[in-house]
Amino acid sequence: MMRDLSRHPELLAINHATVRRRCDLPTLVGLCQRRGIRAIATWRDLLGEGGAPAAARLLRQAGLQVTGHCRAGLFAASGPAERAAILAENRRAIDEAAELGAQSLCVIAGGLPGGSRDLAAAHAEVHDGLGAMLEHARKAGVRLGLEPLHPMYAADRACVNTMRHANDLCDALGDGIGILVDVYHVWWDPHLAPEIARAGAVGRILGFHVCDWLVPTRDFLTDRGMMGDGVIDIPRIRGMVEAAGYGGFVEVEIFSAEDWWKRDPAEVLDTCMRRYASAC
Ligand code: ZN
Repeated sequence: MMRDLSRHPELLAINHATVRRRCDLPTLVGLCQRRGIRAIATWRDLLGEGGAPAAARLLRQAGLQVTGHCRAGLFAASGPAERAAILAENRRAIDEAAELGAQSLCVIAGGLPGGSRDLAAAHAEVHDGLGAMLEHARKAGVRLGLEPLHPMYAADRACVNTMRHANDLCDALGDGIGILVDVYHVWWDPHLAPEIARAGAVGRILGFHVCDWLVPTRDFLTDRGMMGDGVIDIPRIRGMVEAAGYGGFVEVEIFSAEDWWKRDPAEVLDTCMRRYASAC
């Protein structure tokens, strides 16, 4: 039985990326408090001058939970020195997520290293990089949330593009890592239902992100739609994750340079709340 979101406003979470251009963290916290929104996803570059400690204090005082801290991973390395630098950066992201009490640290795979055509090597790099991160994450008590991204990003952003690939990696790596299911990235996949069921059966669905796929899409990174404005059957996918046992937040994450990022953040959040209740 699916949850009736119109009766559960407390399950809404807002990813800071949705209002990133016109809204710093303290402003977002205030807007959420006034609307009864109880959770947000944070970004490393949007924590503000005081960094994670100050952000953690602010969020605690406001009674806001952190769904996910964004983001880490990006394992494409051209050599040992770069690999070490990436791991060090990922450790800092883990420490921030711990400080923020985030439910998970959002991890994306990274694409191909510059000049490479070796996709298999990139896949191996992701496996090994996640393994190295996990040692630190387990000690810090932070769960890694691997987010498969749409295959159009395989070259430059993330070469893990399906739930199946993410499930295989989690199976190989063991405890401490799960999956973030973002409808924008996985809606096209004919094997989505069985792979969501597979993830849910072992309790590894750590988050559920929503926005919409616009037709036409004018920019592959920053032209994501408000829920209900595109072609994704969001309730159907939410039904899959909930049937698989997911009971967490529904997080709105919209990258929209030419539309939503230009609007008044208060209007954006009000629209998110309405569409959350009617279109998700
Ligand atoms: Zn996402």
